[in-house]
Amino acid sequence: MTRAQLATVKIVAVLALAAAPFLLSPFSITLLNYVGIYSLVAIGLVLLTGIVGIISFGQAAFIGIAAYATAWVSAINGQSPWLGLILAIVLTCTVAAVLGLATLRLQGHFLSLSTIAWGLSIGFLFGNIDGLGGFNGLSNIPPISIGSYALSEGWQIYYLIWAFVVVVLILLHNLLNSRLGRAMRTMRGGKTLVESLGVSAYWVNLTAFVIAAFLAALSGWLYAHLSRFISPTPFEPLAGIEYLMMAMIGGATSLLGGIVGAAVIIFLKNAVQDYLPMIAKGASGQLEIVVFASIFILFLQRARQGIVPFLSRFLPQPEPERPEPAPPLALRRQPAPGEVLLQVEGAERRFGGLIAVNKVSFEVRAGEILGLIGPNGAGKSTMFNLLTGALACNSGKIVFAGRNIERLSQAKIARAGIARTFQHVKLRPRMTLLDNVLLGTYSRTKAGLISGAFRLERQEEASARAEAMRQLERIGLGDNPFELAGNLPLGNQRLLEIARALAADPLLLVLDEPAAGLRRNEKQKLAELLANLRREHVTILLVEHDMEFVMNLVDRIVVMDFGTKLCEGDPAAIRNDARVQEAYLGSTV
Ligand code: ADP
Ligand code: MG
Repeated sequence: MTRAQLATVKIVAVLALAAAPFLLSPFSITLLNYVGIYSLVAIGLVLLTGIVGIISFGQAAFIGIAAYATAWVSAINGQSPWLGLILAIVLTCTVAAVLGLATLRLQGHFLSLSTIAWGLSIGFLFGNIDGLGGFNGLSNIPPISIGSYALSEGWQIYYLIWAFVVVVLILLHNLLNSRLGRAMRTMRGGKTLVESLGVSAYWVNLTAFVIAAFLAALSGWLYAHLSRFISPTPFEPLAGIEYLMMAMIGGATSLLGGIVGAAVIIFLKNAVQDYLPMIAKGASGQLEIVVFASIFILFLQRARQGIVPFLSRFLPQPEPERPEPAPPLALRRQPAPGEVLLQVEGAERRFGGLIAVNKVSFEVRAGEILGLIGPNGAGKSTMFNLLTGALACNSGKIVFAGRNIERLSQAKIARAGIARTFQHVKLRPRMTLLDNVLLGTYSRTKAGLISGAFRLERQEEASARAEAMRQLERIGLGDNPFELAGNLPLGNQRLLEIARALAADPLLLVLDEPAAGLRRNEKQKLAELLANLRREHVTILLVEHDMEFVMNLVDRIVVMDFGTKLCEGDPAAIRNDARVQEAYLGSTV
């Protein structure tokens, strides 16, 4: 699909939305109003759960906080609903930030469980705070007014609701295609991957959490002034599960999926309420839940990715744009060739009784390629993890570019200029080659939430894209930048990881067993690339098990065995060293 066609589709969609009140019955418009309101929550959950990977059952509580805040301002204190909106947003986002700070360090299931816990407790508060109407709720909530024009009819507030939805869609779409959004889309690749790019996983999680709460707040505000009455029930965790269902059914990785999911659930609910009593008289309340649960289970089994991603496979995709030439990103100041860049002094790491790295010392000088070799189990990967901050030293010192890094987090070490690849390749298989390499520019760029959402970072983004393209070409994969990374053979995936690392303009590139598992011709390609990098004086620490592979590529070699440094020297000396031959022969491989 061309860009002009895509624009036409969008214009038709917006016109159809605008025309709906003239064509549909007031009842249908009421349903559409609820679709819009719940879409906002569901879109937030697409971001939080589908993309970032945090399952929250607690969104209903955020909607409730906002709804009660605006009801308190407008119904009880007689102030403008717009003042209510401000309080709703501030209060909801503050509560979300505090909850996020406290719980986002929890892992996996514990985090989701905690959302149920605070969802329950906040839901409980609404009925028990004096002056908020108790379990009978609050009525007489005024409609929203624009100037003196009150949006009291369904079709009037319809335009406001859907304007919110459209604006939110546009802003989040921009965000997801920006620096921060790419980091969010990478979160499911695991913490080690994002941190190795210089991203603080904790802050990205917190940002997504607060954005989702913000959208729930908008939803709660609209809800209160649409229904003009609120009570605690809709804000309990049971409703939170429904929002999660909307996001999952619509398509948890697609923003549009949030709208489709909300529409499906609301129309289904409406149909079930209409038809169920005809089949089973009297029991509709509980039966409704059973029907929904069955549909949900069916969905999880048959179409787990959700409706929108499922359908979009059959639709023409918008044509991606190749990066245009742009001014280059700023470069780091590289140290003078020969200067000591990395100094490891007596590094030690124990796992229980096992000493995986035992008082190892060596240094890497700027402009050289140092090979760190040793038989399997020698402690190479552990040493690697100490350098990159994935593991902490039990004792010893690591100085990089004049700075002690043995206590720094992975993200901080990455930002200081160490870029790495992984022994077991870590790419985002569903992202394009270009986007995967763009991730590497994270530590060199600045754009945050606001500039990403409003596209104020176009210049920086253009430079980053041009840089990613340049790195793709450097490794010989520039022909098809919009291919999905998951479609590449292993050899090219390794090269892609190197391109991503190079996109960070690192002072030191550390590669963990890049030749492992490669075919012979793939190894040759990798060796050619490394030889080129060597000519360009990129400083590289090459951790490798395959001794022959490193021999012709490196300037010096450090050999490890049983956690200790066995010896150090130039490749010829190492090849002829009896201790090294023994270590390699004595090992199983
Ligand atoms: P290499 O990469 O040289 O093959 P490793 O650094 O992976 O070696 O492992 C060195 C030793 O440390 C091995 O005996 C391994 O079993 C042990 N080891 C590595 N990681 C862990 C861990 N997370 N927990 C316990 N033991 C480990
Ligand atoms: Mg290893």
